[in-house]
Amino acid sequence: MCGIIAATGASALSQAYFGLQLLQHRGQDGFGLLAKGGDIFYERLPGLVNQSPIDTQKDIRIAIGHTRYSTIGTFREQELQPFAFKNVAICHNGNITNYQDLKNKHTNFDFASNNDAEVFLPLLAGLTATSFNEQVKNILTEVEGAYSVVGLLNDDYIFAFRDTRGMRPLFMGKDSNDYAFASESQALSFLGYKEITEVKAGEAILIHQADGIVSQSILQQEKPAACMFEWVYFAGVEGQIQDLPIYQARLNLGRLLAKKIIDPTKYDIVAPVPDTSRTSAIAMAESLNLPYREILIKNRYVQRSFILNSQKQREAAVNWKLMPVLSEIKDKRILLVDDSIVRGTTSKRIHRLLKEFGAKSVAIASACPPIRHPCYYGVDFPNKEDLVANARNLSQIAEHIEADEVFYLDENDLKLGLKSEGLCMACVNGDYPSEINRERVIEARL
Ligand code: SF4
Repeated sequence: MCGIIAATGASALSQAYFGLQLLQHRGQDGFGLLAKGGDIFYERLPGLVNQSPIDTQKDIRIAIGHTRYSTIGTFREQELQPFAFKNVAICHNGNITNYQDLKNKHTNFDFASNNDAEVFLPLLAGLTATSFNEQVKNILTEVEGAYSVVGLLNDDYIFAFRDTRGMRPLFMGKDSNDYAFASESQALSFLGYKEITEVKAGEAILIHQADGIVSQSILQQEKPAACMFEWVYFAGVEGQIQDLPIYQARLNLGRLLAKKIIDPTKYDIVAPVPDTSRTSAIAMAESLNLPYREILIKNRYVQRSFILNSQKQREAAVNWKLMPVLSEIKDKRILLVDDSIVRGTTSKRIHRLLKEFGAKSVAIASACPPIRHPCYYGVDFPNKEDLVANARNLSQIAEHIEADEVFYLDENDLKLGLKSEGLCMACVNGDYPSEINRERVIEARL
């Protein structure tokens, strides 16, 4: 998962730079910015966006930016986006499942990285404002998987398009003559854009920095399959997707999860694993009529454990990113709420920590059903064997993560909570919205 942004106008570079900071939670390996129009600015740097202050006072009319979370390709600086070739530059969020086939097909193109986004460049070669719709339509037919793309054309245009199922989010904002695209709606509203709309599945939009929208069409659509994990974990809680506020969605999931608790008197408190599950934990505590307590305080200067690259990094991070509140833990029977349980690494360490600090019992409730299948669409759980719910029943999962009990939201309740039938839930039910050649996808990651 990554964050992408594009902007037009005299402040395009600063909008893109600050926009990336608002999308930082979507990827922390590194970031990149490319801005044009008068001066040219192009930087790709490791680390967090605000660790690298840049001079945004330049003569610029258009800009794109990207904050990276590695899925394909190990982390190297040449994997950072944006990528540029001749008059076109692009950034994308998602994962192209036929990347290796497309790369093999374009043998004349000099690929500089192992990043799947680069395959858009030969497909956009020779792009003009006139050929835009036709070339994007070919891409929508040829490129499989999940992708939201933003780009620059010449010195005057930004563009965006989204895969035919709308798997990865993308929004457009307008403020008088200036436009922007971003992965999340709240980034655009914080940047001051007034009219914010969601780019539709299979839609392509081309914007001239002075004349505004010159082309906006839905070129091709298939059965919708928005990634449910955006509402559950990834997206900032201040935003919304498909008109459903993320905050509202997480409240819904917490209320539905509460149905799983037959005897609330077995618990003294409901507590969240900070931060994503806080909203669901509040709703669950209200529904069960139990006190809500914060028992783990996050050290905000340590990265999110899920998007660190290796198991070792994730394990180390969990150890020192959560500070226990002793007075609320000791002798308590705790019902802990998490947004999801993927590998079980965080859960196991948290349970050990709570027991060390005197908890009488710890049950965990996950606001997402068991994740038993790999994701091939841009979320970093490609191997079935790494998933704690793979080939384990509830009591085996509880034993593995050292919890006294484990509860999961039902698959139907997830659909109910997200008020949508058009979801990708493949990591839960194995029902992949597109054909997957598993070997080819894995090969592309090596
Ligand atoms: Fe999202 Fe899961 Fe589908 Fe991946 S498999 S796109 S994480 S719902």
